[in-house]
Amino acid sequence: MNKECSHLMQREQHIEGVWLSCKAELKHILSEDIFERWIEVIEPIEITDGYLKLAVANGFYKDWLEENYLPLINQALITIGELSLKAELCVHEVSLQKEEAIHVPPSEPKPTKRTLLHGAKSKHNLNPAYTFDNFIIGPNNEFAHAAAAAAAKALSRTYNPLFIYGGVGLGKTHLMQAIGHAVLEKRGKTRVCYITCESFTNEYIDALQNNNVSAFRKKYRKIDLLLIDDIHFLDGKKRLQEEFFHTFNALFESHKQIVLTSDRTPSEMEGLAPRLVSRFEWGLVTELNRPDIETRTAILRKKAESMKLSLDLELLDYLALKISSNVRSLEGALIRIATFASLTKQKITQERLQELLRDLIKKEETQVIDIDLIQRTVADHFSISLSDLIGKKRSKHIVIPRQIAMHLSRTLTNQSYPAIAEKFARNHATILYAHEQIEHKSTEDNHLHDTLIKLTDQLSHS
Ligand code: ADP
Ligand code: MG
Repeated sequence: MNKECSHLMQREQHIEGVWLSCKAELKHILSEDIFERWIEVIEPIEITDGYLKLAVANGFYKDWLEENYLPLINQALITIGELSLKAELCVHEVSLQKEEAIHVPPSEPKPTKRTLLHGAKSKHNLNPAYTFDNFIIGPNNEFAHAAAAAAAKALSRTYNPLFIYGGVGLGKTHLMQAIGHAVLEKRGKTRVCYITCESFTNEYIDALQNNNVSAFRKKYRKIDLLLIDDIHFLDGKKRLQEEFFHTFNALFESHKQIVLTSDRTPSEMEGLAPRLVSRFEWGLVTELNRPDIETRTAILRKKAESMKLSLDLELLDYLALKISSNVRSLEGALIRIATFASLTKQKITQERLQELLRDLIKKEETQVIDIDLIQRTVADHFSISLSDLIGKKRSKHIVIPRQIAMHLSRTLTNQSYPAIAEKFARNHATILYAHEQIEHKSTEDNHLHDTLIKLTDQLSHS
C-alpha cells in the first residue's frame, strides 16, 4: 500500500472513530426512538478546518437536525474530548443531484421539507417530545398554555389565529407542536402541518422557480391545522407576505385553525404589512415569559427524570437558581451534566457542577438584568426617585432618564415592548418612541452615548 493510501485510510478511521464515540454519547442522552430516527441516519463525511462534516439524505433532515440536535452533537463532541471540532450538516451530494434532477418531488417521497403534510400515518414531523404532557405550566406560560389547549380542543372555534410570542427558548415551538399532537391523537385524520416560516419561504421560492405556485397554494389550503413557527421571519419580506396573506385568508375563511409563533408581537414587526398585522391580531395574541424559580425547578426535575439522570434535589435547586434566562439553557445544562456523569460515572457534587457549567453560569449572571434593576440603577444614577422615574412628571431632568430606562429595558432584556410598557405604566408606542429617540440622540450626543455605556456596564456587573 502506498503512503498516500494508508494516510487516507487513517483519516477515514479517525473520522469514523470520532463519530462512533460521539454517537455513543448521544445514545445515553436521547431516547431510542429519537436516536434511531435522527442520529443513526447521519453519515460522517470528513473533518476539515475544525468542522466534522455530517451528511443526511435531504434538506428536511438537515433543517430538523440543525434546529433540534446540532447543539447536542456539538456538546457530545466536547465531552469526548474533541474540543476544537464543530459539527456541520450537509445534504448527501447524491441526494442533491437527485433533487435537482427531479425538480418536482416524487409522489411518495421520504420526509423532505417539501412534504410536511401529515395525517395519521406520518406524525413524525412533530417532535415527539413536544406534547402537552411534557409541558410544565407556571405563571409565565399558563395563559398561553390554556389558549393552546383550548385551540386544540375546538379547532378554529376559539382563537383564530392563535399567536404565541416570546423570547428564545421559552417554549413557543413546544407549545405549538403540542396542539398538533393533541389534535392528531384525538382525530388522526386531521391534516396537520407544522412548518417553520423559513421552510415555508423556501418552499414558496421553489414553487416560484418551478412554476408550481398553484400546487403550493392548493397544498396549504387543504390543511386543517397550520402551525407556522417563527413568523417574524416574514418581517420585511413583501412578496412572501402577499402570498401568506392570501393563504391565510383562504384558510381562515374555510374555518381552518392557524397557529403562529414569533419572537415579537405583530405590531412590533416593523416590516409587516398593516393588513397582516391586523389579521394576526384578530384571534388571540399571547405571550410566553421567563419561568420563575418554582417553574424552573419543576422543569428541571421532570427533564432530569426523563433523562434518567439522578441528581440531588439541592443541586437541581441550585441550577434553577443560577440558570434563569430560558428553558433551553436549563436543558443544555442538564445535558452537559448527564453527558459528564455517563462518561465518568462520577457522582456530581456542587463543586463539579460549578466547574462544568462555569461558562453557562457566567453568561446567565451577565444576562439576568431585569427591568426593575434597570429602573433602580437609572434612578440612582440621575439622583431622582423611582416613583418620579416611573411617574407622569414631564420635566426634562426626569423625561430623559425615563427614556433611557425604557431604552435600556429594550436593549438589555429580552422583554417585549408590551411587557416593558407594563413596567412603566405606559402603552407600548411610548416605549417604542423612547427607544428610538435615545438610539437616535446617542449617535449625536457623546455625553449620552457615554452614559449609556456606563449604565450598561454597571448593569451587566451588578
Ligand atoms: P422557543 O421555540 O420558544 O425558542 P422551544 O419550544 O424550542 O422554545 O423550547 C426550548 C426547549 O425548552 C425545548 O426542548 C422545550 O421542550 C423546552 N421547554 C420550554 N418550555 C417548557 C415547559 N414549560 N416545560 C417543559 N419543557 C419546556
Ligand atoms: Mg422555536
